[in-house]
Amino acid sequence: MQTILEPAAMQTWARERRARGETIAFVPTMGFLHEGHLSLMRMARDRADHLIVSIFVNPLQFAPGEDLATYPRDEAGDLAKCASVGADVVFFPTPASMYPDGFQTRVKPGPLAGPLCGRSRPTHFDGVVTVVLKLFNLVKPQVAVFGRKDFQQLQVIRRMVRDLDLDVEVLGGPIVREPDGVALSSRNAYLTGAERAQAVCLSQSLGLAEQRVASGEATAAQIIELVRAHVTAHPSAEVDYVELVDSEELTPVVGTLTGPCLLALAVRFGATRLIDNRVLVP
Ligand code: AMP
Repeated sequence: MQTILEPAAMQTWARERRARGETIAFVPTMGFLHEGHLSLMRMARDRADHLIVSIFVNPLQFAPGEDLATYPRDEAGDLAKCASVGADVVFFPTPASMYPDGFQTRVKPGPLAGPLCGRSRPTHFDGVVTVVLKLFNLVKPQVAVFGRKDFQQLQVIRRMVRDLDLDVEVLGGPIVREPDGVALSSRNAYLTGAERAQAVCLSQSLGLAEQRVASGEATAAQIIELVRAHVTAHPSAEVDYVELVDSEELTPVVGTLTGPCLLALAVRFGATRLIDNRVLVP
């Protein structure tokens, strides 16, 4: 496995492989890797000749006051994990090499970036799609794999690929969870013992909603109230949002659920904001 630091070197590497007719699969990450990331890497690895993983804590997607400076890092551990799943290259650029002096261009997503996480993080998805487009141009993948844990991110990226005619197939991988149901996240490292114990209420509430939908007709308002009530019964939990939306357009579902829709939530535990979601099928 090779580690490449410079964007230009990454692009040269990719150009040479593409010129030989070889295929590239790509998994972008911010590092502090866990089994959720590794599951995407295994999915990607089986779909191309080469697997590239990027590790880049992208300053553009953090707003002032968010956790850019404290985002957890483990370079040696991450490299060992990438090697263990058979990555060919880990692309590890610095912020200065990705955003040199004079950098000023942004990709601007449309209304898909507005609801859910877009409400409390209004510049977040601009930063995400801008870096993803740069990474696609450097890594030149035919296939890129993203997690459904960040469902809105996946949809915003799919739409960018469609709207801008990018020649990349985007795949979504399932959410990987701890045995108690908590979705794996690098940010779980921030939680105190008491917060970690209460964080299980996110996946529990999604399960309650799923049961409610399975047991008969339910309205969006009833489902949202059920989830809110369960989450707010936990003293450390402060709801950022609980929303039921169309899983393609992310527009609100109103009234009785008639087709598959996305139940998504973001909850703060102290300074840590966790997200989770599930597709509900009535
Ligand atoms: P991050 O390092 O948090 O930016 O995540 C990198 C990629 O891993 C994104 O596509 C995430 O959606 C995905 N990911 C993060 N956590 C999980 C998880 N628990 N299960 C599946 N994919 C995940």
